[in-house]
Amino acid sequence: MLTYIAGSGAMGCRFGAQLAQSNQKVVLLDNWDEHIQKIQKDGLKVTGTIEKEMNLSIMRPSEATDPADYIILFTKAMQLPKMLEDIQQIINEDTKVVCLLNGLGHEEVIRQYVPEHSIIMGVTVWTASLPGPGHVHLAGTGEINLQSLLPSGEEAGRVITEMLNKAGLNATYESDVLSAIWRKACVNGTMNSNCAVLDCTVGELFASSNGKEIIDSIIDEFVEIAELEGISLDDQEMKDYVYQTAVKAADHYPSMHQDLIQNNRLTEIDYLNGYVARKAQEYEVETPYCEYITKMVHLKESLLVKDN
Ligand code: NAD
Repeated sequence: MLTYIAGSGAMGCRFGAQLAQSNQKVVLLDNWDEHIQKIQKDGLKVTGTIEKEMNLSIMRPSEATDPADYIILFTKAMQLPKMLEDIQQIINEDTKVVCLLNGLGHEEVIRQYVPEHSIIMGVTVWTASLPGPGHVHLAGTGEINLQSLLPSGEEAGRVITEMLNKAGLNATYESDVLSAIWRKACVNGTMNSNCAVLDCTVGELFASSNGKEIIDSIIDEFVEIAELEGISLDDQEMKDYVYQTAVKAADHYPSMHQDLIQNNRLTEIDYLNGYVARKAQEYEVETPYCEYITKMVHLKESLLVKDN
């Protein structure tokens, strides 16, 4: 069985390394020259919870020719369509495509490139970072929730769940994965976007009554649009979950802060609050907080990201 990791940055390298360690045949796909050359020359350096130099196959998507049994997508959300275009030659009738990106609406994009019965959607709270090309750092523990988009894909979804579990990635086959995806997106849509714009920690955001009012309003908007999309999220349960998560993450700068403020990179805002605001327009309802924070993040991107 051949698994490609389509997008082998921080998370792709984590999954690639753990799958390879459990004797799965894995090929990393990426287009970052320095990273590819380093891994081809010296192997992938893994530090943290696993300490190892690993011999892993890595290439550009255009160089991949062997048909894929599984493809795990791990680009940033705005890079997904280009990646799906670039890997068309390795996708056939039997290929299963797993999406573990953060954010909302990826199934709508993937459907344009992959038959619906081959799509497996998921969400993960594993984390990883890339201290430099060819080097992934792993910390903490995590889990994966996944489910095939169509009931006919369930058997394949369960096989992939098993494969991820053999790699120690703690996967569960879900009965309602889209709700799990919306739950995580709602956490990111409150903390990530606001901490990036305000340049503050999660604890600082949640310390003021103004912060809490903004957070509650964003959650209300996510819950309203989720419901219109046929996804059931309980408003009070969602608020309890976000506030509990905030206590645990009080000292942290969320990943959007790291991308935008610390590394001056574009964000996934259009797939979080931006997705909610776009859907609200389609349904002709108002989501002023999501609309405003999306614009503020884009404004900040235009100030900080070069060649934007
Ligand atoms: P990343 O930027 O480290 O990795 C993305 C990789 O994809 C890059 O190396 C990039 O070169 C490659 N890429 C993009 N388009 C490509 C193309 N067309 N051809 C070849 N290579 C291409 O991002 P990441 O941190 O690994 O995050 C990936 C996804 O996982 C995001 O949606 C993110 O929100 C989510 N996520 C990240 C973490 C984390 O801790 N890093 C945790 C949970 C979820």
